[in-house]
Amino acid sequence: MPLLSKRITQINDGGSDGWEILYKSRRMIADGVHVTQLTIGEHDIKTSPRILEAMDRSARGGALGYAPVNGTDRLREAIAKRATRISGVETSPENILVTPGGQAALFAAHAAALNPGEKAAIIAPYYATYAGVIRNLGAVPKILTARSENGFQPMASDLDLEGCRSLLINSPSNPTGAVYGRETLETISKAVKEANAWLISDEVYDAQIWEGRYISPRNLPEMSEQTFVIGSMSKSHAMTGSRIGWLIAPRAAIKALTEQATVTTYGVPGYIQDAAEFALSLGPEFEEEIAAPFRRRRDLADAAFQNDPVIRLIPAQGAMYVMLDIRATGLSGIGFADRLLEEHHIAVMPGESFGEAAAGHLRVALTTNDEEMEAAFQTIKSFAWRLSEQSQRHSAAQ
Ligand code: PLP
Repeated sequence: MPLLSKRITQINDGGSDGWEILYKSRRMIADGVHVTQLTIGEHDIKTSPRILEAMDRSARGGALGYAPVNGTDRLREAIAKRATRISGVETSPENILVTPGGQAALFAAHAAALNPGEKAAIIAPYYATYAGVIRNLGAVPKILTARSENGFQPMASDLDLEGCRSLLINSPSNPTGAVYGRETLETISKAVKEANAWLISDEVYDAQIWEGRYISPRNLPEMSEQTFVIGSMSKSHAMTGSRIGWLIAPRAAIKALTEQATVTTYGVPGYIQDAAEFALSLGPEFEEEIAAPFRRRRDLADAAFQNDPVIRLIPAQGAMYVMLDIRATGLSGIGFADRLLEEHHIAVMPGESFGEAAAGHLRVALTTNDEEMEAAFQTIKSFAWRLSEQSQRHSAAQ
């Protein structure tokens, strides 16, 4: 067999993709084991029947051919309207590219920003696919770190963008739940302007803010021409499987990326776009309805781990996860998550999947019903207590 390209064989830099616990839990489920699945960011409800009806109407109405590669006019208008409303920045359909999910928009934004060999900054802890997107483009990820003691908000001293063509941020953040305040965004905007780098803002959790409020970096002085925004219907509308999202960018970038979409995805199915347009027409009330269970379960987590002697909960300001600091148990995040799955059939993500900055932590997705969620928190607590006692006995015996 001829050699495969470095672009595809080095996506994970020779390591793993960080999803092993998910794959293992799926194998257990396939073998008939009941597993509480708290790994992936996917709702415990399905896409609303109202949205499915819109999809069905559209498909039966004939939207089964090639759709416009950049997205239908009506969907791009609906996305632009939403963006204008939440950001306060006038956004036109020419600023929008419809993509198969936020993931494809992340790829498109980096493709627009980077030449092979160039550096692209990401901030740890970061979503598991970020570094791979950059490597797949032949560029080089530069890992910056936001520290736990600063609430995972990056400080000016964390943002060394020397030689970087882009900086990727994610607020509300997966996995930390941090929501960047105005001060943080101003610091970020100053850093990218000084470096003359693109700011790529992953906002797929923009409908899930529990503390603080949504502030768009595009709304900071002179930033709208230097910023790409990643959006998605996955989290805000429980449409993960429909694979629909968007990129907001300056017009020239959208024009060029439409050409890239022509040679890659060739667009998103028309009936999915029509369903997304209908879903957006349901307005912010619908998005709040979808977000409500995560807000509730985040409060349940706060109550369950309050004053816990072993586990420290990192309070989530947004998004559908909580982070637990389990270092006092003496295990790594991977070690803890693996034993939790083996011994208690609860699947969570080890912090290490999100970069070294989250080592010794777990990311728990708030993605099952409240009762099962509560039970999982109690099991995680007692398991952690037991491990911490064992580790203390072990050190006393030495
Ligand atoms: N960005 C972040 C931070 C995510 O957590 C996810 C999915 O979990 C994505 C992007 C990709 O989402 P999608 O492609 O489903 O829109």
